[in-house]
Amino acid sequence: MHPDPIGITAGTRTFALLGDPIVHSLSPIFQNAAIRAAGLDAVYVALRCSAGDAPRLLAAIARAGGGGNVTTPHKIAVLGALERSTDEVRKTGACNTFWLERGRVTGDNTDVAGFDAAVRSLVADPHGARTLVIGAGGAARAAVVALIRAGVSRIDLLNRTPEKASDLAHRIDPRGLVVHTARLEDVRDEPFDLVVNATRLGLYDGDPEPLDLRTAGAIGAVLDLVYRKEGTPWMRTATALGLPAADGTAMLLHQGAAAFERWFAMSAPLEAMREALNA
Ligand code: NAP
Repeated sequence: MHPDPIGITAGTRTFALLGDPIVHSLSPIFQNAAIRAAGLDAVYVALRCSAGDAPRLLAAIARAGGGGNVTTPHKIAVLGALERSTDEVRKTGACNTFWLERGRVTGDNTDVAGFDAAVRSLVADPHGARTLVIGAGGAARAAVVALIRAGVSRIDLLNRTPEKASDLAHRIDPRGLVVHTARLEDVRDEPFDLVVNATRLGLYDGDPEPLDLRTAGAIGAVLDLVYRKEGTPWMRTATALGLPAADGTAMLLHQGAAAFERWFAMSAPLEAMREALNA
């Protein structure tokens, strides 16, 4: 056998991130760290691809004994390639993790588990909490499904485009038992146990903050799903106001750990993943 300096063998399983763009993704860094820490013969790569190619790629990689993740904007486009879906995929209408299980191409949405873990690091017991979610895209879908499952008493949903908030609310909670669409003027002074930013605001310097925390009502904790190396400006504002706050790093880590567990049927080496993410 030829010695291989990067450790790839004929038995190496391939895991891939499908999306566009993917160049800034941290998933290859911390998933390869996890694979190494667990001593597995596998590799995780990022494949930039079109919405047309993503479903075929997903099915082919799974059938070749691998798996992977799906990121923006293909989480919905790949649904047609799945032969089996978890409840999380059905509820959110989006897939971020895939693999082959008992011969069937299987999809999950581990953003739900990742969000839940991130919330619980801020709020010991979200049961009965009054919450505000800002945003109505894919991340907001995962957040709303996880919060309903955690038993929160109410979710006010605020979005720049109100129709998208109504669509999301209707899709996930058609009877309107927990999710209520809101306008800024309705929620600006209200008390919330948890406020979540599920918009893109905060990705770039100079973005406005999703909600002015200085003039808001009493807030228990702040979770920004956007992540940046140095933390997000909104999260830093919250911390400066003395509020428990986190950016999206914990959600990223825990959705990745849940995906690792689906692929390899073993616990994820969380510390190695966290270390790679923070390096
Ligand atoms: P998406 O489906 O494209 O949705 C984007 C959301 O941001 C929509 O609600 C959109 O409002 C809102 N938005 C965009 N620009 C805005 C602006 N200038 N002002 C106000 N609202 C604006 O994206 P996504 O997948 O939900 O991702 C949202 C954010 O969450 C991204 O920053 C992403 O990195 C982050 N995220 C983090 C994790 C994690 O693991 N931490 C996982 C998933 C996503 P409209 O409906 O009005 O367009």
